[in-house]
Amino acid sequence: MIAGNRTINYLRISITDRCNFRCRYCIPSTPFSVIEHEKIARYEEILRIARIACNLGITKIRITGGEPFVRKDIFSFLEQLCAIESLKDISITTNGSLLNREKIEKLISLGIKRLNFSLDTLDPVKFEQITGRDRFQQVWDAIFTSHELGISPVKINAVILRGINDDEIEAITALTLKYPFHIRFIEYMPMGDSAVEKQQQVLTQEIKTLIESRFGELKPVKKGSNDGPAKKFQIRGAKGIVGFITPISSHFCAECNRLRLTSRGTLRPCLLNNYEKDIINPLRNGASDDELKEIILAALTKKPSFHGLSDPSTKGIPISHMTSIGG
Ligand code: SAM
Ligand code: SF4
Repeated sequence: MIAGNRTINYLRISITDRCNFRCRYCIPSTPFSVIEHEKIARYEEILRIARIACNLGITKIRITGGEPFVRKDIFSFLEQLCAIESLKDISITTNGSLLNREKIEKLISLGIKRLNFSLDTLDPVKFEQITGRDRFQQVWDAIFTSHELGISPVKINAVILRGINDDEIEAITALTLKYPFHIRFIEYMPMGDSAVEKQQQVLTQEIKTLIESRFGELKPVKKGSNDGPAKKFQIRGAKGIVGFITPISSHFCAECNRLRLTSRGTLRPCLLNNYEKDIINPLRNGASDDELKEIILAALTKKPSFHGLSDPSTKGIPISHMTSIGG
């Protein structure tokens, strides 16, 4: 599928807006309601849309949320997703708190070889302050069990916030000296009405300078075919990779190959733009595969060439929060 001069081959599916965590940069600070159950796309509906999207050229799917593992029967859904022959790559972004050895083994047996965990601190007390939950050990164990069982790469996403975890940049980076993990520092995106101030955003250049002053020059690493927008580097002699995801300081819109399917069953061509196209209601009202295909292609014509979030006058876009779209 083509959008402007970009080839779209990557679909991100948020299977739920529910989450067992309350990360302060993600969840709104004011009361919010979850999407009613009947409005959430059912597994068979997601699978139908995924199959049509794969016929149109999607080869890579990431499952996200909310927290994907809070949704019931996720394993039978994943099994059916993995059965789509033309799909070359299926991965999951998770907070890791609900994954144990048995579940990780099951994922591997389905053919899922890549997992992204979110972990913003190595300190259990701070972990609870950021996520609202006392689950550091479960997440830590899930990361190391995945590594031990052969998940590769194990990616770890960290959002650095001034005054909260900016004192841990070096310690988080140092994990790559010992383990082949891909640590990815993601710039905080002010969305919705989270409890985090825009001034707490720590941009990539500051993080990179700090890392280099401690560990020496970061050597650029060539991107692989499965790589997303992270700019990748390595510390001399390290086993792992340090990556930077820079939606704010250097947007990567020109190379964005993604389309999103939200848990409400809408297609969202850009995370940071509020345009969404309804696909679930036409599907529920009997649309044919060809009609659904046209809806997907029509959504892509609305993929903006760039987002406006790096504009200093932008306070953040007032959108439905990250959990319903899928980060
Ligand atoms: N619950 C899963 C998790 O935390 O990995 C998947 C969903 S979460 C929305 C996906 C990713 O979005 C996480 O790595 C999280 O750190 C990131 N994220 C959430 N809110 C963000 C924000 N405002 N700015 C930057 N990244 C954010
Ligand atoms: Fe939940 Fe992930 Fe958002 Fe944290 S970042 S609240 S784990 S969806």
